Parts: sequence; C-alpha cells; structure tokens
Amino acid sequence: MDLSTPHPELPSVATPSVLPQGASTVGLSAWADIDLTAIRDNVAQLARLAGDADVMAVIKGDAYGHGLVPVAGAALAGGATYLAVAQLAEARAARAAGVSAPILTWLYPPGADLAGAIGEDLTLSAGAPWALAEIAAAARSLGTTARIHLKVDTGLGRGGAWREDLAGMLVDAARLEAEGVVDVEGIFSHFASADVPDHPSVRAQQETFAAVLADADRVGLRPRLRHLANSAATLTNPSAHLDMVRPGVSIYGLSPVPDIGGPTHFGLREAMRVTARLIAVKDCPAGQGVSYGHQYVTPAETRLGLVPLGYADGIPRHASGVGPMQVHGRRYTIAGRVCMDQVVLDLGADSPAAAGDEVVLIGREAAGEPTAQDWAAAIGTINYEIVTRLGPRVPRRYLEES
Ligand SMILES: *Cc1c(COP(=O)(O)O)cnc(C)c1O
Repeated sequence: MDLSTPHPELPSVATPSVLPQGASTVGLSAWADIDLTAIRDNVAQLARLAGDADVMAVIKGDAYGHGLVPVAGAALAGGATYLAVAQLAEARAARAAGVSAPILTWLYPPGADLAGAIGEDLTLSAGAPWALAEIAAAARSLGTTARIHLKVDTGLGRGGAWREDLAGMLVDAARLEAEGVVDVEGIFSHFASADVPDHPSVRAQQETFAAVLADADRVGLRPRLRHLANSAATLTNPSAHLDMVRPGVSIYGLSPVPDIGGPTHFGLREAMRVTARLIAVKDCPAGQGVSYGHQYVTPAETRLGLVPLGYADGIPRHASGVGPMQVHGRRYTIAGRVCMDQVVLDLGADSPAAAGDEVVLIGREAAGEPTAQDWAAAIGTINYEIVTRLGPRVPRRYLEES
C-alpha cells in the first residue's frame, strides 16, 4: 500500500438509533435503556476513589456499547477531565458532535490523518518511533505544537514502545519538545493483569514504569499526566493512581474484578438495561425439539416464548442453552440454539406470559436480575464483551435526571 497518497475519508462510526427520553417502547422488539445519571455517578465515585488523581474516562467501542457522545457528556458531568478512545475516527466523531474536552486517541496506523487530528485539538498517543516522526511531521506542516502522550510497554506485550525504541523516543521527544513541535503532556502504560491485584506482573510493571519516568526525567521530559490505572487498578491498587486514572468498564457500572466484588461492592451501578418483548407464546407438548438442531427437547407440556433477539444483535451463539433471561420475575436460560434474530424460552406450563410481555436480558445485580456478568460467566467471557457487542439493531433510549 502506498502511504504517500492522500488519506482516504475516515470511516464514520456506526451508531444505533436513539429513542427520545420517555419514548414508548410498545411495538419495539427490544431496546436498551442507558442510564446517563448512573454513568455520571459512577465517574464521580471513581474520582473519589482516585483521590488527587484526575479521571480519564475511556469511551472507545461506542462507549462499550453505551453510546460515544451521550456517555462523553455524562462522564464529564461526573468529573472526568479527559476522555480516551482507541481510533481516530471515534475521537473525530466526538469532536464533530461538539465534545470539546481533551481526548486521547491511541490506535492509528502509519499514514493516518494526524494533521487533521492535531487540527481538531486531539491528543495523540505516540507508542513507536514512526508515530512520533509522523506526529512531528504533521505538527511542522501546520506550524503548530502537537499535544502527545508517550505510550510505554512496561510488560503488557501489546502496544507501546520499549527497549531501544523507547530510549530513542525519549531523546527524540525531548528534542522535539525543545523545538516546540510537540508538548509531551503525558506518559502512560497499561497493565496485563490488574484484574489479579496480587499478580507479580502488576508490581513489576509499576517498577518498570517508575524507571521509565526516571529516564524521561533525565532527558528533560516532565510530563504532567502520568497514567497507568485501568478500572481494576483504579478500584484495587491506589499505588497505581499516579496523576490520572483511566477507567473504562467501571464507568458503565460493571466490575472488572467480579471475583472480588460486583458493582454494588464498589459503589457503582449498571448503566445498561436490555429489554425485549415476547413476540409469541404458544402451548407445546412434551418431547418437542426446540430451535435449530433440536438441541433442547421439552421435558413436559409447556409454553414456549419467542424472544426477537439473536446473534445479529450481539446475543452470543455460545449462549445457546445457557444465556439468562427473566420474564415475570422468573429466571430462564435460552432453550436450544441462538438464531440470527431470535431465541426461544421454555416458560413452563403455568407461565402467565403473553405476546408483548417484557423479557429482561440485562438488568441490575441489586434487583436480582440477569446481568452482563451473568452472561459472561455463562459463556466464558468477560462482561466487557457482552455490553460492547450489543448490536446497532437495538435502539438506545437515554435516561437522565434533569
Ligand atoms: C480499554 C483500555 C482502558 C480501560 O480499561 P478498563 O479495564 O475497561 O477499565 C484503559 N487503557 C487502555 C490503554 C485501554 O486500551
């Protein structure tokens, strides 16, 4: 690929449709209520836990499925002073929607439109020598100073510079800062196992980061924002808070350490609620195979309920036979296979359910409803994936206390 050609248009960021606050849900197959007040309160709680450290709210992946722009506003209302996304397109979508707070973006390939990003006052992560060189070239072409955060790999083994690359970048960054080409506002790294607080790698990465900060200081770099703590470290490891914490999943009221405690344990509450409506309820004899492959066979005469959500909506196909749902206060697991657009529940012969009744897929831990964590545990994944994959076919309805 020829990287010297002009940049293609940035892809737009796909977003689900939005229902007005208080809109009726009659006639909808399913919808997700997103409680922006919960997000605001969660950020405020994280800010309290972080003490003197600032909060950078991570809103990548359409804010973990909760909606980039509304969540940006709620996080800032809760006291976040910085936002972070993965892709440039996400950062630019936030700017296009009028979000003016500082935004860090850390995932772009060579040839990305960094001049455009600098022009929109985005903060660029520099995690490789080529990235620093491209940022410098873009800033020079604009005759301006690019605000950057150096990204260090302290042992995650993923993004960020290490070893000779890092040593060279610190020297180059100091020189570029002296020339006024970049402002090294921050320096950051990311944990491999912060969700296992006493894992030896946690301490080792903190020590490596401290050594890198000393190296940076020796070449004359004094970044004002040193940051390391994701949600797990924000909640469990005050020694990693430094100047700013960088929580993602916890701002949505999900626990990154479910074995230690759920959201309530940490003073957080879930922001996403997913509800569907039964589109059919029908009587069924014993011995009837249900859904593709007939993996489930009714053990007795019963009533089947059809739920109009499937893997096209982000219901994992691996949740076949195990995904939890609640109807009229009773907990069920999906009967048989998850299809593209629907799943079936065996409601029991005595169920009062009728077509149009509500089915709770993701609710509140405190109310005893199925949660994203229950789904994750049922299929062997993490709650992050459950909420983030909720598809754009499910409209979002934002709730906010006025
Ligand atoms: C996603 C991400 C975070 C947020 O992690 P959570 O576990 O969701 O709090 C923080 N920093 C980086 C670099 C990330 O990629």
